[in-house]
Amino acid sequence: MIVGVLGGGQLGRMLALAGLPLGVRFRFLDPDAGCPSRDVGELVVGAYDDEAALGRFVQGVDVVTYEFENVPAKTARWLTEHVSVFPSEVALATAQDRLAEKACFVAEGIEPAPHAKVDTEAEFRAAIERMGTPCILKTRRFGYDGKGQWVIRSAADAERAWGEAYPFDAARTRRTDAADLILEGLVPFVRELSMLGVRGKDGECRFYPPVRNTHERGILARSVAPAPGVSDAQREAMERATARVMERLGYVGVLAVEYFDLGGGRFVANEMAPRVHNSGHWSIEGAECSQFENHIRAVCGLPLGSTSVRGSSVMLNAIGGLPDMRGLLGLPGVHVHIYGKAPRAGRKIGHVTACAQDIAAAEELAGKAAAMLRNC
Ligand code: AMP
Repeated sequence: MIVGVLGGGQLGRMLALAGLPLGVRFRFLDPDAGCPSRDVGELVVGAYDDEAALGRFVQGVDVVTYEFENVPAKTARWLTEHVSVFPSEVALATAQDRLAEKACFVAEGIEPAPHAKVDTEAEFRAAIERMGTPCILKTRRFGYDGKGQWVIRSAADAERAWGEAYPFDAARTRRTDAADLILEGLVPFVRELSMLGVRGKDGECRFYPPVRNTHERGILARSVAPAPGVSDAQREAMERATARVMERLGYVGVLAVEYFDLGGGRFVANEMAPRVHNSGHWSIEGAECSQFENHIRAVCGLPLGSTSVRGSSVMLNAIGGLPDMRGLLGLPGVHVHIYGKAPRAGRKIGHVTACAQDIAAAEELAGKAAAMLRNC
């Protein structure tokens, strides 16, 4: 079995590291010859819209999946005509557009953040008037790690946000290639949770426990699994919501849904990622079967693995600089993953997971590991 993966980043690398023991081989498509997946499979170097590269990429692969969802819709369509693609083109299109994503949540009875479509300055002003501040202007597409987002608390913020999101060109007319936008109310969450579900070709769904995520400067910094203090009722409600989204999209593979926890068992859905997700990295050591292995099992039509946890885990991202490897490797229960990317400020270059029998011990171990990260 050969799985073709669109994108050759760290998620692709970890998919292969999980799939190789099952006898699955991998081929990646990525514009960068030095991408992290170069070490774990065959790499076709090319742009995502280069049909010649796409032709070389699909030749002989049994199924295509992706680890990077911002591929052009045209590429997904072309691939679908030539090979089985999981998750499907409709799942990809929905997750690529914050507005379509929210419409999907609403259609399934899941509350999203208050929001309004914003295409013109008049719509922008009217939406702020209606929603009030604080609010957050976002590009509908291609945002990641907090990029393409402007928090608005004042009239001055609104001016700056609109100017940056929808700039003028040299002729002082609004650029027509500027991104479509959405305005969201800033949700007063008590914490951020995510839920990873996996759905097989036969429709079977399994869920990892809710994960608590903390972001720093818009980038995921740490995930705790299982998230402490989530009631069984809330976990079940999150599972039902995630299942409804997967069923609606005829989903196959791992889907991550990010939720804002409002306290008292209430939550709203923020966004979804149609792929394995950073908030599931802990599952490599912290679950019976990792998100990566389960995604491969799903898209290959194999039985799904157990999502049960092994104790508690705290995952910390290594951002910017390489950590103190000697120090980390001297900590029993700490697992280190380095992605083979050149260190650069703000770039995820690896992660560590501290695993222990209970959350107190995992947090204590994570505290020691955190001191050995050189995040910048
Ligand atoms: P996103 O790319 O939508 O996941 O946004 C990145 C981060 O910004 C989220 O994880 C939140 O911490 C914050 N954020 C985004 N949208 C909202 C919102 N509507 N209300 C409150 N915080 C938000």
